[in-house]
Amino acid sequence: MLSEIPGAAGTGAGGPGGSAAPRRIATISLHTSPLDQPGSGDAGGMNVYIVEVAKRLAERGVAVDVFTRATGPEQPPEVEMAPGVTVRHIGAGPFGALDKHTLARYLCPFVFGVLRAEARNDPGHYDLVHGHYWLSGRAGLVAAQRWGVPLVQSMHTLARVKNSALAEGDVPEPEARVRGEDQLVRQADHLVANTADEAAQLIHHYDADPGRVSTVPPGVDLDVFTPGSRADALRTLGLPSDTALLLFVGRVQRLKAPDVLLRAAARLVEADPALRERLVVAVVGGLSGADLEQPRRLAELARTLGIADLVRMEPPRTRAELVHYYRAATATVVPSHSESFGLVAVESQACATPVVAARVGGLPTAVRDGVSGVLIDGHDPADYARVLHRMITEPAWRDRFGAAGVGHARGLSWSATVDGLLDVYRATSATEPLPAAANQ
Ligand code: UDP
Repeated sequence: MLSEIPGAAGTGAGGPGGSAAPRRIATISLHTSPLDQPGSGDAGGMNVYIVEVAKRLAERGVAVDVFTRATGPEQPPEVEMAPGVTVRHIGAGPFGALDKHTLARYLCPFVFGVLRAEARNDPGHYDLVHGHYWLSGRAGLVAAQRWGVPLVQSMHTLARVKNSALAEGDVPEPEARVRGEDQLVRQADHLVANTADEAAQLIHHYDADPGRVSTVPPGVDLDVFTPGSRADALRTLGLPSDTALLLFVGRVQRLKAPDVLLRAAARLVEADPALRERLVVAVVGGLSGADLEQPRRLAELARTLGIADLVRMEPPRTRAELVHYYRAATATVVPSHSESFGLVAVESQACATPVVAARVGGLPTAVRDGVSGVLIDGHDPADYARVLHRMITEPAWRDRFGAAGVGHARGLSWSATVDGLLDVYRATSATEPLPAAANQ
């Protein structure tokens, strides 16, 4: 699946088989480690993506080294995350969490550390560099040029797009990031977008060459996220069997708009007071870097709305634990202001639970509107409340979405993601590197 956008098919120069797949790649994940638990801080969908893809690449004979910044003195220089996947900790800047804007200052020592690790361990070993998020791309570019190999870049989120859909009170992404992304779009040998929408944004907002952009959708672990008994799942969570559970999973930050779910829940119990007896709203996830006050504000909001007794704020959960939440939920709600893809939405559907989501970013790809869930324009809690009320009170209607969701999620496996990435890697390796002029 090399590309879903017009023009990008041309990137298939050489196409699958046009060049051999790389034997070993350097994945750069500067600001967050694949060893971190997703759902708080800077760890989210990108971490899941890197882990799932790296494991499956290694299973297909492509060794992956993931370079990430060391955040504590106890971290060994290298950790085998899975057979064929090594996480390399690079010292750059002070230990501890650093926000992404501060991290930009430590790009130089990070790049130096990456180059030194390669020279020490196995010089000339990497066939390709894959950068994730713009900061990693900036580091990856230097390494790729030094090693004379291509740079494939996944942005995951884009500053211009994020800034055009800020939640109230959110701080815009700085101009330095916008400029950094602009440069990277010109300099990377190839760009991988999660959705056709993101590919179009790269082309229209960043002037990317359509011939160097491919769309490769992320996936879902279909062995972990499976349908199961709702009654059992509710029991596991310690909830009565008639509970109507509305679920939010993800980092608790303004951009993800968990407040919209709380406001919708307040409307639900106002309109249908009998629901108060059995409604539960679970917010699963932790603090996120730039938004440290958000969980406290959310708890305050629940009190102000008079639904504090219905809201359960849960710490980040492992994937094995999350399965019970998805299976137990009447619906998973994803009211984000912007979302590059929305793995949570796909995981929920894989567990046969419908998704009620905002029609933004990658969510129209992640959710089949009217089939596996309902997409809503905007963030008016009344609109969410209306759909959620039907999901709760018309189980047959709700279950039809659930059943269709399983089929939709099956089409989004990590294995298909790796097929697409290997096509991109082969094609990029077969293409002449960009001339130096493009790097200005
Ligand atoms: N996640 C998790 N535990 C939690 C909350 C979230 O493992 O407590 C995972 C979730 O399963 C999903 C990822 O974090 O795979 C979030 O990805 P998504 O694309 O929904 O959002 P992002 O973090 O990229 O904004």
